[in-house]
Amino acid sequence: MTGDLKFGIGIAYIVASILFVVGIKMLSSAATARRGNLLSSVGMLVAIVATLLTRGMSYTWILVAMIVGSAIGLIAARKVKMTGMPELVGLFNGFGGLASLLVAWAEFVLKGDATAYSTFTAIAIALTAVVGAVTFSGSCVAFGKLAGLLPGKPILYKGQQAVNVLILILALVCGALFVCQGAYPALVALTIVAIILGVLSVIAIGGADMPVVICLLNSYSGLAACLAGFIIENNVLIVAGSLVGASGLILTTIMCKAMNRSLANVLFSGFGAVTESRGASYQGEAKSLTAQDAYFILEAARSVVFVPGYGMAVAQAQHAVRELGELLEANGTDVNYCIHPVAGRMPGHMNVLLAEANVPYEQLVEPDDSNPIMPTLDVAMVIGANDVVNPAAKDDEQSPLYGMPIIEVDQARTCIVLKRSLKPGFAGVENPLFFKENTRMLFGDAKASISELVTEFKDA
Ligand code: NDP
Repeated sequence: MTGDLKFGIGIAYIVASILFVVGIKMLSSAATARRGNLLSSVGMLVAIVATLLTRGMSYTWILVAMIVGSAIGLIAARKVKMTGMPELVGLFNGFGGLASLLVAWAEFVLKGDATAYSTFTAIAIALTAVVGAVTFSGSCVAFGKLAGLLPGKPILYKGQQAVNVLILILALVCGALFVCQGAYPALVALTIVAIILGVLSVIAIGGADMPVVICLLNSYSGLAACLAGFIIENNVLIVAGSLVGASGLILTTIMCKAMNRSLANVLFSGFGAVTESRGASYQGEAKSLTAQDAYFILEAARSVVFVPGYGMAVAQAQHAVRELGELLEANGTDVNYCIHPVAGRMPGHMNVLLAEANVPYEQLVEPDDSNPIMPTLDVAMVIGANDVVNPAAKDDEQSPLYGMPIIEVDQARTCIVLKRSLKPGFAGVENPLFFKENTRMLFGDAKASISELVTEFKDA
């Protein structure tokens, strides 16, 4: 490669890195997130074009891979339903890990023997193989749990932590052997052990914690990419990988904080196992109402807060909710949407749905803003949310949810809950909200119920 070309590629990598950083910064606000995403995509395009200018590549194979990859991506993006997004994101992380694992293997196979590369590169190959393989197999299990192909409950057995530690030690031994001898069998063993480690670590975690695990695996996939960057000495891969690794870790921390749990508790407590306490069993009368009754309450309300949850995603009710919000505003009601950080099945799940339905960003509020004024609000309308509004998290010390910050909809003057039954949410914990004096249940599919309310407003 000529000096000028090398310099040009270096500059392009710096431009791409700046675009990634600015793009990620813009993702932190809903108002700038779309532009941030676009900017980062442009950065990735710059990085890809610059990399393709590097001499000595087999363009035929690259073209074939790009066509096949783009076709799969396009079909998946078009076909997957909004409710299937969390598992798709999980699978994408896994492919990221697999790609890095393959880079490590390719470099090893290409160089042929240990004398052809430095100890530093050998360490990078071993680490990439471990992190890439753990990410791949762990993500496959997470995908299986979220897609319902594997049991959601944590699979626990006696001496589990000891087995995991043993496997980790085995991985260290295989890694050390590989670095010292550069032997083929050591890398094979290392990869197999890391795959087993990924599977065993994730099967022990319950379905309700999968979104946190997916954030963590996302962080691992970034780390694997960063390590792969060291193997092939590609600066932009190192930068992009570190950004993904760091942001995934920050997101994981935010999610844990939103559930008032430590990462260790998420990874090792087996939350959701059959043996765990389900908290108290609540009895009493759950008062139901019809859509017409709900219309009269809403029509008279001066302030309404919508609280969406996973059920809104299942019902695909977001457009109907936005329409109802607009009708309420036209009626002089103050309307807001309060989103819990872990509502739904992936980080930002509710934000994505409401943005898709064009709900104005200014109307989105956080629990910390909404909870203090909740007693002054006329109606809190819970749309397919359950665990994130469960008052047992505040009141019942025996509840597995105890300590998790919730949206305190029970404090509003009237709370209308839209769901199909009195069944518990993802965490499997009963919800005393349904039996509170000021709660009314509007049973049925959330989209059908909201659409009925919209019709009532339009016919009035
Ligand atoms: P939940 O899973 O607690 O509740 C969803 C409710 O939606 C169900 O109780 C269900 O009740 C109802 N529902 C399902 N389909 C419909 C429908 N078509 N129409 C109306 N209602 C419907 O969801 P939340 O969003 O409240 O809580 C998320 C859970 O995920 C929490 O346990 C949280 O801790 C966990 N979690 C989420 C993370 C994330 O990244 N988002 C991270 C970690 C954990 P019914 O069957 O009666 O209709």
